Amino acid sequence: MIPQATCPLCAKPTAADHAPFCSRGCRDRDLLAWLSEDYRLPGRDPAPDRLDSAGDGD
Ligand SMILES: [Zn+2]
Repeated sequence: MIPQATCPLCAKPTAADHAPFCSRGCRDRDLLAWLSEDYRLPGRDPAPDRLDSAGDGD
């Protein structure tokens, strides 16, 4: 027996056509999230420290 797979986004039962997601909507949502993660290049983070020190009046 195989346990019922569920959508990783909304936990509804997975649809065979859209595995491992429950629907095309969730699959697209995950794809977009994955792409935006992929496009975020490492080493391009803005330094939040600069915001903190601003207005410190040292
Ligand atoms: Zn879903």
